[in-house]
Amino acid sequence: MPELPEVETIRRGLVKFCVHEKIEEVQILCAKSFIGPKEVVEEHEVLGLRRYGKALIVDLSGGISMMVHLRMTGQLVWDNTSDKKVLQQENLGVAFGAENSGLISASVEKCTHAFAGGHPSDTFFDELPNKQTRVVIKMNDGTLYFNDQRKFGFIKVMPTAEVEQDKFIASLAPEPWKCDAEKIYQVFQRKKNSPIKAVILDQKVIAGIGNIYADEALFYAGIHPERKAGSLSLNEVKKLLEGACKSMDASINAGGSTMATYVRADGTKGDYLEKFAQVFRREGQPCYKCGVEIIKIRVAGRGTHICPNCQRLVA
Ligand SMILES: [Zn+2]
Repeated sequence: MPELPEVETIRRGLVKFCVHEKIEEVQILCAKSFIGPKEVVEEHEVLGLRRYGKALIVDLSGGISMMVHLRMTGQLVWDNTSDKKVLQQENLGVAFGAENSGLISASVEKCTHAFAGGHPSDTFFDELPNKQTRVVIKMNDGTLYFNDQRKFGFIKVMPTAEVEQDKFIASLAPEPWKCDAEKIYQVFQRKKNSPIKAVILDQKVIAGIGNIYADEALFYAGIHPERKAGSLSLNEVKKLLEGACKSMDASINAGGSTMATYVRADGTKGDYLEKFAQVFRREGQPCYKCGVEIIKIRVAGRGTHICPNCQRLVA
């Protein structure tokens, strides 16, 4: 599932391609993937892209916006094949934020698209539209494809003025960068008996922390994920928020954690995670801080990675 850093990476990538493009035609291949009359967005220009949590907002001229939820398996692929070679070499590097040119060149051979982001899958490099394409948005210089294997994602048309009142957006808590540690501390006190990992995954408490960043933030703060939320000190709350910001910043700067899993089109996965993750998917490997083996446990129904030495379950 794309997490907040991946959605932010998609936003940054698409801004480069889509802003000032005019939507010429919308083709809906799956009715439930596009909510609202398509005629409302046709003939309108893309003014900008915003992000609220994991929702992407495409603002159009005429006071119209499209809200995009990728959910489990959504992908956005911008295809401009008018000058493939240039686009591939220049923009893949920018879009993916990949400094490692090896990663970029590995993808260039297979990728015929200017920019792609979201759920990593083998079909990322297929001809478009493919069997997972749900919506095709033709613009004057290229085409934006919304692919979604499991169809939980969607694009919803709404007046720009109503975006912030949307039920999903209005219910979003602040993201880690904007969280007030004392307020979060109070929330933890109210949810005092819940395991801390479950609480930080609750999007109504802190927006945008998914499984990867929950594990990374807890490790950074030296907090066992099963500790009761109410047992954290204010200093631990501050450290936890700091850890969430740092791991998410690192991910955004490198192009998002799922990016690398498909940029390496040769089938190897998790290359980028290996560079930034301290604990996530590192079970069986030594902790970078103390050398003790990272283990995988289950907390709040989620696979959870910890260093049993650095993150002790204190009373
Ligand atoms: Zn350790």
